[in-house]
Amino acid sequence: MDKRYDVVIVGTGAAGLYAALNFPAEVSVLLISKRELSLSNSSLAQGGVACVLDVVHDNYKLHITDTLVAGKYKNRLKAVEKLVKEGPADVLKIAEYGVDFDKNADGTMCKTLEAGHSRHRIVHHKDSTGKAITDGLIAAVKSRENVDILENALLYSMHKVLGGFYLSILKDGKSLYFGCNYCLLCTGGIGRVYKYTTNSAIATGDGIAFAYMLGAKIRHLSRIQFHPTAFAAEADRERFLISEAVRGEGAVLLNCNGERFAHNYDKRGELAPRDVVSNAVAREALRTGSEKFYLDIT
Ligand SMILES: Cc1cc2nc3c(=O)[nH]c(=O)nc-3n(C[C@H](O)[C@H](O)[C@H](O)COP(=O)(O)OP(=O)(O)OC[C@H]3O[C@@H](n4cnc5c(N)ncnc54)[C@H](O)[C@@H]3O)c2cc1C
Repeated sequence: MDKRYDVVIVGTGAAGLYAALNFPAEVSVLLISKRELSLSNSSLAQGGVACVLDVVHDNYKLHITDTLVAGKYKNRLKAVEKLVKEGPADVLKIAEYGVDFDKNADGTMCKTLEAGHSRHRIVHHKDSTGKAITDGLIAAVKSRENVDILENALLYSMHKVLGGFYLSILKDGKSLYFGCNYCLLCTGGIGRVYKYTTNSAIATGDGIAFAYMLGAKIRHLSRIQFHPTAFAAEADRERFLISEAVRGEGAVLLNCNGERFAHNYDKRGELAPRDVVSNAVAREALRTGSEKFYLDIT
């Protein structure tokens, strides 16, 4: 074995980086990413982070309800409550790591509206919030003496052993072996299984597969969010996502004839949750026989 750690965190998106920063200095941590540190879905996120920071115009109950409605009440209530109630403190903590959220003249964070939200509650850094967050968190983990970082290091096998886990990692063509008491799989989603995707090349569901092989129950794998708007570039399977915030700020969807159609499928129109708007686009394509759509921001 090359080395033993208290904790190994697999993944350097927002989840893995933030988890590493939450361990006290006496806990030894190894943080790995299969490509360069900055390549993740987190660094691609544009629109921003939803959280209740303005308690005059917004509250937890509204955010919880919006989340449950968007999730068609299939969400785990406990998880939603935790996300909503702990989110604001986490955002403030992330800001302390140097992430420069856009501010109003009075110094409070700017909040925009996004589909599925009944209040302006999305805090952001221009239209590159994910990059701002991961850049800030990467700088912070690099300054931690208890955190070792290995990039371009692919976890390819994981076994449960007495007192923890035994991990096999491929780096520079060589296998490295690590032991740990605890292992956090922060390996992101599975967007790359689809023909067209806005996801980064790393989103291949590795952690889900490892967890499944170790006996974890995997739930709701079919509940994938399809983002309604991206640039259509036939030649390329990787699509550039057009942020939710563009519709939040008033952009409207037009069909191939230049007609608005989202309200024909749901009264919330362009501001319905993403799955509803994506479904409207798919049904409108069938109705018109054309896959050409426009997003009018004039
Ligand atoms: C284009 C785009 C825009 C988005 N915009 C928003 C937004 O505005 N607001 C919002 O809330 N959400 C947004 N999202 C969703 C959000 O980005 C993700 O839900 C979130 O970033 C996931 O974070 P994560 O840390 O779990 O995973 P990721 O950021 O995907 O990180 C996964 C990490 O795991 C590592 N990894 C995977 N497998 C292995 C392996 N076998 N060995 C070693 N390392 C491995 C990868 O290298 C990577 O470091 C967007 C997503 C995309 C794709």
